[in-house]
Amino acid sequence: MHGTKILEEADRLMTVCNSCRYCEGLCAVFPAMEMRRSFSDGDLNYLANLCHGCGACYVDCQFSPPHEFNVNVPRTLAIARAESWSAYAWPRGLAFLFARNGLVVAIAAALSVAAFIFGFAAFTDRQVLYGVHTGPGAFYALMPHNAMAALFGAAFLYAIVTIVMGVRAFWRDIGEPIGMHADAGSLFQAIRDAGNLRYLDGGGVGCFNDDERPTDRRRLYHHFTFYGFLLCFAATSVATLYHYLMAREAPYPWWDLPVVLGTAGGIGLLIGPIGLFAAKWQRDAALLDEKRMGMDTAFIAMLFLTSLSGMALLLLRATAAMGPLLALHLGFVFALFITLPYGKFVHGLYRFVALVRYARERKMMPAGGPTE
Ligand code: SF4
Ligand code: SF4
Repeated sequence: MHGTKILEEADRLMTVCNSCRYCEGLCAVFPAMEMRRSFSDGDLNYLANLCHGCGACYVDCQFSPPHEFNVNVPRTLAIARAESWSAYAWPRGLAFLFARNGLVVAIAAALSVAAFIFGFAAFTDRQVLYGVHTGPGAFYALMPHNAMAALFGAAFLYAIVTIVMGVRAFWRDIGEPIGMHADAGSLFQAIRDAGNLRYLDGGGVGCFNDDERPTDRRRLYHHFTFYGFLLCFAATSVATLYHYLMAREAPYPWWDLPVVLGTAGGIGLLIGPIGLFAAKWQRDAALLDEKRMGMDTAFIAMLFLTSLSGMALLLLRATAAMGPLLALHLGFVFALFITLPYGKFVHGLYRFVALVRYARERKMMPAGGPTE
């Protein structure tokens, strides 16, 4: 007996697949499945997060609908995956934010942007708000640096703590049965597998969309988004070091490292989300968890809007539009931070943890592959 209906269904499918094993070369899910004879809730959540949703096993399966076995691994694992994030969410009382997540994120973004715009209007002299500010410290004419650092530092810290608590619960649930711990080799292998999205390649041919011609577009746009996000994070980190270690205040010239990293990341976060959005609408509906379309779309939209407002701020920072654009950008960034633990963002971290465990399991696997 499992905790939810979708885990019951995932158990049924994994039992069928374990007898069939036709798909074992497609991705990490099937070899990991073959190492088990029965599946706990934690095992199924692990397999669900190991799945990258490429769709290959649905297209290749001789038992997929309309066959009476009704085997649809990508969709079942997509639903189980999303339910697992809610099940491990911390604090438990906020797990409901995963339900109707698109609406939750939209409300958070609207309130956050409105709060910054009204805050700037209320606490800043009109001439300062619409004035032209240039040179080091220009942003802080509109919002004091300490207030900015305290507000965003608190939001970031909250996101880190809540995400770590959720991922820790997941790790315990999937790792405990065989008393496993990460080691450096497994960690390195997982970083490589996550860094090149190894299992999003449909067994080598690419992701399946609305026809049976696979492409690598989804992987490409995931890369734009993932590395764009990392570059923006690196830009913020370098700017923080500049401020506290070198007493150099933002905004920085266009050739300086925070701007170069932020611009490259910002471009990635414009191209990636647009591509992912287009790829999502081209996917076969049979592969998708339609109930989470709102969550997926909201996260993609938040990344895009954060980047768009940041790029607009970069281009127009020496004009009178700087004040309103700063309010807009900070509003999106703040909303993004506080919604990170309760939305699609967590999929990357849960998947990474699943990849660490998989790398470790492979090391322990007997020579010749999984046992019969
Ligand atoms: S998805 Fe279908 S073809 Fe692939 S292992 Fe499972 S039952 Fe076999
Ligand atoms: S959808 Fe792709 S990643 Fe997921 S189980 Fe099937 S083949 Fe593996």
